Amino acid sequence: MTRLIVVSGASGVGKGTVLKKVMERRHDLSFSVSATTRPPRPGEVDGVHYYFITKEKFEDMIRRGEFLEYDAHMANYYGTPRAQAEEKLRHGSVLLDIEPKGARQVKTSAPEALLLFIMPPSMEELEKRIRGRGDTPEEQIVLRLERAKWEMEQRVWYDHVLVNDDADRCAQEMLKLIENF
Ligand code: 5GP
Repeated sequence: MTRLIVVSGASGVGKGTVLKKVMERRHDLSFSVSATTRPPRPGEVDGVHYYFITKEKFEDMIRRGEFLEYDAHMANYYGTPRAQAEEKLRHGSVLLDIEPKGARQVKTSAPEALLLFIMPPSMEELEKRIRGRGDTPEEQIVLRLERAKWEMEQRVWYDHVLVNDDADRCAQEMLKLIENF
């Protein structure tokens, strides 16, 4: 059976690295590419990491009901294009890297979805990782850390909580949860 696998975790927790490792081991899984109105970071490719679209286009898609879920956070819109997720689900399970409000919407519309939450080893480590990335302005760092605290409180209603103390170990644990799902 193919399913939606939702993965949440604060920005900077290393979700991208863990998900890449999981997908290298499971070629039957595909990744849902979200649409966003935030500008691309260095190295991000349109259509690979996100679909980078305008606010007008995003709001147009909302009106047409073209999102499986969406949310506005950190002053931008982020959403999962419904048609793309449905098409990918025809070929296998689909991974969604989305924050808790979107995860809640998915759980409501698809209760069989698997919800996984990734925690950093500590808040200090998370801050170090966000700063170390060197691509986030100082005022954004403060906002992201505040948001991270709120996101981490939401982990209680996820199916499983994983700690990314080591990306390989965390990916192994995620692979096991997906296999037993
Ligand atoms: P970033 O700007 O660092 O790429 O992502 C910020 C947050 O947006 C992350 O927590 C990520 O999981 C979330 N996000 C990315 N795509 C989507 C989406 O399609 N829907 C929702 N609800 N959140 C998303």
